[in-house]
Amino acid sequence: MTRFLATLLASAALCTSLPLQARAELDVVNLKSAIERSVESDYPRLDALYKDIHAHPEIAFQEEKTAAKLAAEMRTLGFEVTEQVGTTGLVAIYKNGDGPIIMVRTELDALPMEEKTGLPYASREKTIWQGRETFVAHSCGHDIHMASWVGTAKTLVKLKDRWRGTLMFIAQPAEEIVSGAKAMLADGLFTRFPKPNFGFALHVGPFAYGTVLYRVGIGSSNADGLYIKFRGRGGHGAVPQATIDPVMMSARFVVDVQSVVSREKDPTEFGVVSIGAIHGGTAANIIPDEVVLLGTIRTFKAEVRAKMLAGIERTAKAVATMSNAPEPEIKITEGTKAVINDPGVVSTAEKVLKAAFGDKFRPSPPGTPSEDYSEFINAGVPSMFFNIGVYEPERVAAAREGAGPQLPANHSPLFAPVPKATIETGVAAMTLAVMSVFDEHARRK
Ligand SMILES: [Zn+2]
Ligand SMILES: [Zn+2]
Repeated sequence: MTRFLATLLASAALCTSLPLQARAELDVVNLKSAIERSVESDYPRLDALYKDIHAHPEIAFQEEKTAAKLAAEMRTLGFEVTEQVGTTGLVAIYKNGDGPIIMVRTELDALPMEEKTGLPYASREKTIWQGRETFVAHSCGHDIHMASWVGTAKTLVKLKDRWRGTLMFIAQPAEEIVSGAKAMLADGLFTRFPKPNFGFALHVGPFAYGTVLYRVGIGSSNADGLYIKFRGRGGHGAVPQATIDPVMMSARFVVDVQSVVSREKDPTEFGVVSIGAIHGGTAANIIPDEVVLLGTIRTFKAEVRAKMLAGIERTAKAVATMSNAPEPEIKITEGTKAVINDPGVVSTAEKVLKAAFGDKFRPSPPGTPSEDYSEFINAGVPSMFFNIGVYEPERVAAAREGAGPQLPANHSPLFAPVPKATIETGVAAMTLAVMSVFDEHARRK
């Protein structure tokens, strides 16, 4: 029996007050148009919320104002809201009779980077992050997720005569540093609050709006953080023979480590190492005594991960040996595991989403970014994580055919989703996904 079916039957056994009845299949076409009407009438408010959150982003574990905005929206809708779960997280619960508990997650956090979109609602916010001042921007689209999350809650409340069960809407902090899901779990997410039977989350990507991509099984990568400190001997830039140059070591490592990917790893398996930050030195004529590199390692499979980690460590040590330097300090911090979508949840939602979106709902290969939504899955919530597009279909087609510019992806300073069509798709897809599971449950009773 699939985990989905087992959970469904277990949750059905607890529900006795609804009459046993054979139910017809969901009328998806009718439902989708009801959802679209609902979003259309709510849209001015969702648009204002989206642009406000976009213009005032907050970084991991600092999302206090963002969380307060969402809390206010959810209270207005009649959800019971608890704030400060896992630092800045939010849990909003809405009970509507007997049925499964379905979790819908959004993230709250933005990125430490400068937005360069030039949009009228672009962020100019700054904060202190790891001891330095930095710009903050919603360049991953978590603001779209929040607007879609509120829109889905509004729509499900409006349609509450069409489903029975409990909604558990959660807003997690610090997804970008893959720490917020763990923080919420450690703060009693599934003990202080009911543990959901099923869960859903979505993420935007740089493809056409109106399109929903999904997959069964592996949906995202394992992530590990890399920290290397190359230690040398500082001195005058004009007297290099008296120094051991850690800038040289860093440069050599950044290039050589890619041979672990290209020469050691099986080329048919996924694995990436990227160095995202090099911190060292102060002036042109001073050789510093140390340089720190920060990077990320992404894989799908455990054996590929082990091979990559070993190769990275060996390369760093070899680079130091070449310079006659002390051993580098190497720290690999286990980040988050791959998201594995539940086949039962996916097949239930698939039927409804296919009927609603036609060929704009389609399977895709796993994404190489990572996602700490995997923490909720690993804590026992069978789930579906899917992606929605953000750009005009014509621009996407032109970029693909080489007839137009490449479109900025997530984490680009130019990432600029088209708000209305993207949020509408997010609300419609998420509402239908949630209702498909409530419906499946009701029909199995
Ligand atoms: Zn991101
Ligand atoms: Zn993201």
